[in-house]
Amino acid sequence: MAGNEAEALFGGAFLLTSAGQVPLVTAESLSGDQRAYFTAMRQFTEREVIPNIERLEKKDLALLRDLLRKAGDLGLLLAEIPEAYGGLQLDVTTAMLMSEATSLFGSWSVTVGCHTGIGTLPIVHFGTEAQKKKYLPRLATAEWIAAYALTEPTSGSDALGAKTSARLSPDGSFYSLSGAKQFITNAGIADVFVVFAKVDGDKFTGFIVERSAPGLTVGPEEHKMGIRGSSTCPLFFEDCQVPVENVLGEIGKGHRIAFNILNLGRLKLGVGSVGGSRNMLGEALRYVRERRQFGQALIEFPLIREKLARSAAAIHALESMAYRTTGMIDERIGAESGADRPGRVMQAVEEYSIEASILKVMGSETLSGVVDEALQMHGGYGYIEGYHVERAYRDVRINRLYEGTNEINRMLITGMLLKRVSKGQLLLGDALAALEQPLPSFDDPLAHQRTAAAQLKRVGWMVLKLAIERFGPELESRQEVLAAAADVISEAFAVDSAVARTLQVAPENELRRALVNLYVFEALPRAVVRARTAICCSAEGEALATALSQLEGLARIHPIDPAAEREVVVEAMLGAGGYPFGN
Ligand SMILES: Cc1cc2nc3c(=O)[nH]c(=O)nc-3n(C[C@H](O)[C@H](O)[C@H](O)COP(=O)(O)OP(=O)(O)OC[C@H]3O[C@@H](n4cnc5c(N)ncnc54)[C@H](O)[C@@H]3O)c2cc1C
Repeated sequence: MAGNEAEALFGGAFLLTSAGQVPLVTAESLSGDQRAYFTAMRQFTEREVIPNIERLEKKDLALLRDLLRKAGDLGLLLAEIPEAYGGLQLDVTTAMLMSEATSLFGSWSVTVGCHTGIGTLPIVHFGTEAQKKKYLPRLATAEWIAAYALTEPTSGSDALGAKTSARLSPDGSFYSLSGAKQFITNAGIADVFVVFAKVDGDKFTGFIVERSAPGLTVGPEEHKMGIRGSSTCPLFFEDCQVPVENVLGEIGKGHRIAFNILNLGRLKLGVGSVGGSRNMLGEALRYVRERRQFGQALIEFPLIREKLARSAAAIHALESMAYRTTGMIDERIGAESGADRPGRVMQAVEEYSIEASILKVMGSETLSGVVDEALQMHGGYGYIEGYHVERAYRDVRINRLYEGTNEINRMLITGMLLKRVSKGQLLLGDALAALEQPLPSFDDPLAHQRTAAAQLKRVGWMVLKLAIERFGPELESRQEVLAAAADVISEAFAVDSAVARTLQVAPENELRRALVNLYVFEALPRAVVRARTAICCSAEGEALATALSQLEGLARIHPIDPAAEREVVVEAMLGAGGYPFGN
């Protein structure tokens, strides 16, 4: 590997490298095996789950359990479990693809994602040998179902503010848990809960709690806006007895489990949003081809075509970020199996936690946008129960709330970046020196788009520099600046990924260039608006005037004809019957 490529193998490096400098994993480079796993899960979802949507939406939890069991028997839930405990321990990209393949039905996606992800992975990554032997083989086949209980009635985003307590029994054989957990996915069907409680009032600790534990009560199902086919209940602990051997990880180190597992959850949610968005775009296309108004099919109207093309461009950018990130994580983990592999997975995911939070935010918001436009294209019918899009509109809303709300994730994106800068892992000096240089010029079919990626990164560094200079350590509390900076950085990652992928796969391809052009044309001005907010909060007087004029220079955009680019995309979608690329 060339020097600059090796250097680029760390989180946040996309802000320092030039688009196309480092080879990426893309949808086009997925292997036959990876696609086969995706297809197996997708076919299961289509054949076994979709025909049962109505029953599942009416909370047929026995059926939900049966479906999980059936998927388990077919080996579809093994991807993230080590071989020694009955799993397959596949690469992260494959595991995420399988999760993406469940996204045809939000409730199924949430149920499987919770079981295989936040429910099971704490035991994979932090369990003792005995815990792994006892639980993982059963979770692998869904003989037992898993859930993850962090949130409490009075602590959601502030997860460490949990009040559930754990007290060691006088004979030292068990802990007594007292308190309540709120909004626990899979609670109505789970056999095993990963629960967080404070030992001696302040030592935040993970526990494995079995459903049969004395003192545990599962409360009634919540009546939710969406994902109604999934189970969500509160849990109540009244001196609930948990054997000491069920302490997960070290006493007082529960935050390591909770936050590392959430990083994986964010990744899963981001990649899953790619599949959900593609599905809904396909649904919208089918509808607008059939529905006629003013004597013609809706698809003939330019405003409908614009919606389709903009959605496709946003999905293309998200898809590019998603597999790029899982690919970087796999590269960092390395191909070797072995007992230390789960540890390497955890470290690699932590390394790319900035990218995971970006994917969570952009994935959930892209999906929300695509579904919203799909509903709009359905007109009044989109508002009526029974249409997939009506259910999807309600289902996708949750994604902006859990796995850390999007506000919390925005603050994490900038916060983690600043931490790396202060530790010298991301060399601010190098980036700032580049700010003084003229923008790079490229000589290839994607030259303008590559320049736009460079502009966005410079805008990102400029915003960070001003904010650090103005606020220093106080920056942590300037949430509006942190969030605006996060939006600029996220758009930089999106544009960089879409451009780099196209450069790598087919720079001359008209469709791919059109997708990138449409995305860049809106992303750059969007980021500039957010940058202006951050700058105006961070500078005043002459410094403000200088920064705004610098921003103006970086806001220049190569003009395109959006209507012409849109036609290229829509024609390709008509040929493909949906989003033009698939797994
Ligand atoms: C259907 C569903 C399933 C769920 N599944 C699970 C599960 O399986 N396990 C589990 O443990 N939890 C689960 N949750 C809980 C979920 O993770 C929380 O709802 C989420 O973390 C937000 O917490 P909260 O609801 O208490 O909102 P709050 O934390 O009260 O937040 C309310 C609003 O304030 C904002 N806010 C909060 N703090 C700040 C801050 N510091 N700065 C700026 N803004 C802030 C938030 O972004 C949000 O907009 C689930 C929730 C739902 C609805």
